[in-house]
Amino acid sequence: MAKMEAGVVYGEKYQELLQSCKDGGYALPAVNVVGSNSINAVMEAAAKNESDIIVQLSNGGAQFMAGQGMADGDAAKVIGAVAAANHVHLLAKYYGVCVVLHTDHANRKLLPWIDGLVAAGVEYYEKHGRPLYSSHMLDLSEEALDDNLSTCAEYLKKIVPLEMSLEIELGVTGGEEDGVGSDDDITDNAKLYTQPDEVLQAYNLLSPIGHFSIAASFGNVHGVYKPGNVQLRPEILKSSQELVARTHGTSANPLDLVFHGGSGSEKAKIEEAIGYGVIKMNIDTDTQFAFATAVGAYVEKTPRAFSYQIDPDDDKPYKSVYDPRKWLRQGELSMVERLNEACADLRSGGKSLAKS
Ligand SMILES: [Zn+2]
Repeated sequence: MAKMEAGVVYGEKYQELLQSCKDGGYALPAVNVVGSNSINAVMEAAAKNESDIIVQLSNGGAQFMAGQGMADGDAAKVIGAVAAANHVHLLAKYYGVCVVLHTDHANRKLLPWIDGLVAAGVEYYEKHGRPLYSSHMLDLSEEALDDNLSTCAEYLKKIVPLEMSLEIELGVTGGEEDGVGSDDDITDNAKLYTQPDEVLQAYNLLSPIGHFSIAASFGNVHGVYKPGNVQLRPEILKSSQELVARTHGTSANPLDLVFHGGSGSEKAKIEEAIGYGVIKMNIDTDTQFAFATAVGAYVEKTPRAFSYQIDPDDDKPYKSVYDPRKWLRQGELSMVERLNEACADLRSGGKSLAKS
């Protein structure tokens, strides 16, 4: 595989990167970020592991990036995503790895957010000759399949001239973020398993338009659930790949599949899913927890620095302890550590195309 320049990848290079994942039996961690701390931690982890990586923002993450105090929240979702992308475009190459820039779940209510980003993307493309984001994601999986796919086709047409890809979702992934499924009902919800003929229908409609990837549900849920409540069935991915390959006479694993709700999943099932063409696994809940536990531990270890600037008993100044760089750095380091594990699970470590 040809060496790629470090920095943000998109278009044909992005597709080459995904092909390298499938050929090499690995997947890229796709990590949700909310600001420069988490963005930098993700790139630090990628550099440390010599792994290419996906930085992604939800609409909430983008809004937080712009600042929750910004009066127009809808504008903040767009501007924050633009700010985050610019931050990554500027810094990524210095980390020496390939970085994919992606926006996470947008349902129909959030289409105005995507419209704003496409408009910003057109402007960015005209100025820089490259897209602002490598890909956007539409999650219309709660709707009828035809509505889901026709809207995805419409958006794919809009972003193909920007050398962008689209991620779509088929079947309902359970869990907190989507507001579907609960500890009690997820196991018998048939919708948690995407049907291969739906995947074929998506391929038939979208592949003539441009590049897309599919988040298919195989029992995965967003967030972390008590073990035993969810039955992961990666073989559903295999059946989908086989159906498309058979129908269209393609080589094995023609689809680029995405694993949503990767947090807390069994390692063996992750490995199996990668074998069936999963090229991206979303990680959010576990990295949030990693950040939080490290900050929590720091506060617990130095509680007086979080109550007093100068200790009333011994006049000890605490400035060097409560300096936000000290505790935010603990969060970053812990996030890096969790991503070391992700790179190992997904076998992306040492495989950066910027290093080969
Ligand atoms: Zn999803």
